[in-house]
Amino acid sequence: MIKPDRIVTTTCPYCGVGCNLQLHVKDEHIFKVTSPFDSPVNHGNLCVKGRFGYDYVYHPKRVTTPLVRRYLLEGNQELGNRHDAPNLGYQSRMPDHLIPTSWDWVETDWDTALNITADKLTEIYKRDGSDAMAVYACAKATNEDNYLLQKMYRAIFRTNNVDHCTRLCHAGSVVALQQATGSSAMSNTASQVIQNDVFIVTGSNTSENHPIIALQMKEAVRQHGAKMIVIDPRRIELVDFAEMWLPLKPGTNVPLFTAMAYVIVEENLVNHDFIDDRTEGYTEFLATLEEFTPEYAEGITGVPAEDIRKAARLYANANKAAIYWGMGISQLSHGTASALALINLAFLTGHIGREGTGLNPLRGQNNVQGASDMGCMPFHYPGYMRVDNDENAAKWEKTWNIESGGLSRKLGLTTTEILSNAHAGAGGIRALYIMGENPMMSEPNLNETRKHMEQLEFLVSQDIFMNESAAFADVFLPATPFAEKDGTFSNTDRRVQRVRAAHAPRGQARVDWQIICDLAQRIESKLGVVSAYWKYSNSEEILREMGSVNSDYAGITYDRIDKLGLIYPVPSMDHPGTPTLFTESFPRGRGKFHPLEYIPVMEEADDEYPFILTTGRVLEHWHGGSMTRNSVLNEAYPEARVEMHPADAEIHGIRNDDPVTVRSRRGEVVLRTTVTEKTSVGVVFIPFHFAEAAANILTNDALDPQAKIPEFKACAVQVFPARKKDLPNPDAIVNRGRY
Ligand code: SF4
Repeated sequence: MIKPDRIVTTTCPYCGVGCNLQLHVKDEHIFKVTSPFDSPVNHGNLCVKGRFGYDYVYHPKRVTTPLVRRYLLEGNQELGNRHDAPNLGYQSRMPDHLIPTSWDWVETDWDTALNITADKLTEIYKRDGSDAMAVYACAKATNEDNYLLQKMYRAIFRTNNVDHCTRLCHAGSVVALQQATGSSAMSNTASQVIQNDVFIVTGSNTSENHPIIALQMKEAVRQHGAKMIVIDPRRIELVDFAEMWLPLKPGTNVPLFTAMAYVIVEENLVNHDFIDDRTEGYTEFLATLEEFTPEYAEGITGVPAEDIRKAARLYANANKAAIYWGMGISQLSHGTASALALINLAFLTGHIGREGTGLNPLRGQNNVQGASDMGCMPFHYPGYMRVDNDENAAKWEKTWNIESGGLSRKLGLTTTEILSNAHAGAGGIRALYIMGENPMMSEPNLNETRKHMEQLEFLVSQDIFMNESAAFADVFLPATPFAEKDGTFSNTDRRVQRVRAAHAPRGQARVDWQIICDLAQRIESKLGVVSAYWKYSNSEEILREMGSVNSDYAGITYDRIDKLGLIYPVPSMDHPGTPTLFTESFPRGRGKFHPLEYIPVMEEADDEYPFILTTGRVLEHWHGGSMTRNSVLNEAYPEARVEMHPADAEIHGIRNDDPVTVRSRRGEVVLRTTVTEKTSVGVVFIPFHFAEAAANILTNDALDPQAKIPEFKACAVQVFPARKKDLPNPDAIVNRGRY
């Protein structure tokens, strides 16, 4: 048995559950991961990603030296540009038509890479102004990294064009919760599920997306007698534990949930005291309920009216009931309305503001909650303070040592808008800085995204691997993964927990916040200003600066969160944290009912495109695959597959393992088939982790008008047999090319 040199306690870098990890380190190398049994989030349990998915830290393809395009070193545009030269460097895992035809990367030193970056960003800012600048922050990086990145863009470049992948996962939930409650996070903690009498899980394959929360849900059913209602188009694992499964058609959430509201009102199951004391807009809401009979909803959703009635009664009659939801609610062109329909149910019944109740959007990435809290969104400073509010702006101007009125009050662009505005001329984005995100995997309609990427004049990638988006970059700044940095993550429960370095960065890689500080000082010196403060001796100083204005984090110090973390709001140094929100009131005062109407998905199945495609994660992989596909986890799930119902497979002459082409109006992929009853008739499912069969080549870029989240969860596709030789070879793909 290997005896570790040290065991470092930290937080899992994958999903929003935020499990506590113990990294066993020998000779500056992690060789094992365990978890403490007294960890408040996961009680010693880990899923396969947390337990085994750490080896990407040592993968030979990790980039640990700064890289720049050759033309930047030699100062000669005639050497070509990244759109028309032969591909001499990075070999993408993407299909050929999506690969940037780039030319050679050159390894360089940090001074050169940072000076080139500062020169180009300054040149573009001076020439084209704030509107030409944009940045993607990173839901995998720490709170401290993210706070500083948005500060750099707001304080130096005076732009709110700051966003991150929250736009692509839960923006609909965030906007809906803000509108209805004035908050945007989970109201209760996931572990409170064992206090529920009844709970709804909808649009969330929790067993694969948040496995440890799924464990707690099963415990709630098996050991505490809770009744679970699963509302999902797919027969997910939790259905085996559920009292009811309502298999609705993708994108029909609003009529289903509103029909449940209809039943609750019709049968007088409403909580009148709660409505009178805590809410507003009930009368207007009632006036719009009339058409949403269960029979009307059955015609749209495919769920029998009697099941809708039964589910409504179960939820409303419970003493303590809660709703947990995932991206199946928010990733729609009416994602905001879907989440509002759930919120209306909680307001009708008063299942909010007490332990064991609540509205709980399960956040995806390990620190997507924190990156949002840190202000990495185009409409908010840290603490969800609107950027178009003078009082808010003045607080940050003071903190960042900026002249009064200096910060922009103009709302910024969202991720999708940033790329679709990449063009020369008025209002065009010319320079984009990407920290740890991969839009060439995560945006919808990738063929179109590629065209936008090509329009950028200058692209900086700060990452640990050369991914599909970094392949378009002019400068690559090698950063560190979670195991080589200190800081904090905020999980889906709002629990702020420590991240600790197991060992020093590999090669020349540097911690994200230190890269940002170094770069910010170089840019300020080129602009001839010294405004914001960029000299921090440790990551805690950064968090304390942010907490001096954002009261949710005001009472958080590294000492206080050393072992158990703290659940924000933590408004003072002696505050114990707030596991349950809205016990007395909502941040906006009264909770607001929202009347809703049914709007179909933008692309419904038809004779030409007879299937609805829905996308999501699998247990073994994470997002664009940068980490898990460069890990031992890739051996457990090595290739993309499309799931199809046996009845559909028989009609189309497709057997399990057969190669098929899946084609939408925007592109096509070839992959193998899994014939399974996990998906419904007429619905196919593709996980979005596999670049060689990227689900987002197919998805629709239609946006929710309020949250600007794309409709990843439903688009129309054809599926037909393909030749075996057309299948991408994942082995060749993983092993191709040094960068
Ligand atoms: Fe990590 Fe999430 Fe798995 Fe926990 S459930 S070990 S946080 S991936």
